[in-house]
Amino acid sequence: MLTAEVDERPDALFFKSPVSTPVRAEACGDCGYLRSFLEDPKRLWSAYVSRSSNVE
Ligand SMILES: [Zn+2]
Repeated sequence: MLTAEVDERPDALFFKSPVSTPVRAEACGDCGYLRSFLEDPKRLWSAYVSRSSNVE
């Protein structure tokens, strides 16, 4: 399964707290067009926001 991931504290040597959410994909059986969705985008976004505030 695909996942998308954001490290909450990318500069931490230990105790990184990666936040991930499954990626849901839908494919067209005719032309092969694939689109994907994050299962829980708000979770990733809040991790991204808190990561930014951790980096100084
Ligand atoms: Zn199609």
